[in-house]
Amino acid sequence: MTVDYVKPIPEPNRDSRGFWEGCRARELRILRCRECGTYVHQPAPLCHACNASELDWQRVSGRGRVYSWVVVHHGTLPGFSRETPYVVAFIELAEQPGLRILSNVIDCDPSELCDGFEVSVTFVDAGDEVSLPVFRPAGAGE
Ligand SMILES: [Zn+2]
Repeated sequence: MTVDYVKPIPEPNRDSRGFWEGCRARELRILRCRECGTYVHQPAPLCHACNASELDWQRVSGRGRVYSWVVVHHGTLPGFSRETPYVVAFIELAEQPGLRILSNVIDCDPSELCDGFEVSVTFVDAGDEVSLPVFRPAGAGE
């Protein structure tokens, strides 16, 4: 069954295309510097640590911890209001201190969240061509 997706859908660009291709394949892929090994997110043409321009998409574990979050109670954009309350969170990925991704935490009571709450990635389809990475409590399964 196809459900109309009414929230904004990301538009991959030259820098982010590999990220979105990974999500569609149910893999969280992050750019990694060939020179120094630093992971770079948001996708960018240069390594933040050494300015090298040779970066490759690398699959990461999808495990992380909640770094900070807000609970949205009043959705103001189409498609969001019917999902309130929902959680918007920075997730610090296990691969590197400070490597954070902005996402949602689903499948948990927002009141259960705490600093360091362990999560793992899963994916939700947004339309026919884009899948979004979201996070759920670690151990909840795929
Ligand atoms: Zn580097």
